Amino acid sequence: MYRTKKSEDRYQQYRKTESRCPFCTLSGERIIEETKSFYLIKNIYGYDIWDRRKVKIHLLLISKNHIAALQEIEKDMVQEYTDILKKYSERGFDIFTRATVSLTKSQPHFHTHLIKTTGRLLKSVHFNEDPYFLHFS
Ligand SMILES: [Zn+2]
Repeated sequence: MYRTKKSEDRYQQYRKTESRCPFCTLSGERIIEETKSFYLIKNIYGYDIWDRRKVKIHLLLISKNHIAALQEIEKDMVQEYTDILKKYSERGFDIFTRATVSLTKSQPHFHTHLIKTTGRLLKSVHFNEDPYFLHFS
C-alpha cells in the first residue's frame, strides 16, 4: 500500500490538524452503509496503490464504538462484521486489518480496509525514503 507523494503530503497535512479520533467525529456524508455496530465509510485519504495496482475504491469498515483492535469485537458484532466483508469480497474488494501492535497503523480506532483496484499494474516504484515515485506502465 502506498500513496503518491501528493496524496501522502495531503494526508500528513491533515494529520497535523487532527485533535480527536476522526472515526469518533465522523461526518455523515462519508457513510456508505450502517449496521447496528459498524459504519462502512469512504476513505478520504485512501491509498493510491495496493498490490502494485492502482486503487479505484478504498473503504473503511469502522466500529461505531471506539475500540482499538479486532479482538475487542463483541460476539454480537461478529456476524455484522463478516456479513459486510463477505458482501464486499464478492464484489472484488481486498480486505485487510493491521495487527494491534503494527508500527504502520496510524489510527487507534479499530478499522478494516476494503480496497478495489483498477487492475492496472505499476511498471516501477522508486523509493528514496520520502518522497518516492510511482510510475504506471
Ligand atoms: Zn474513535
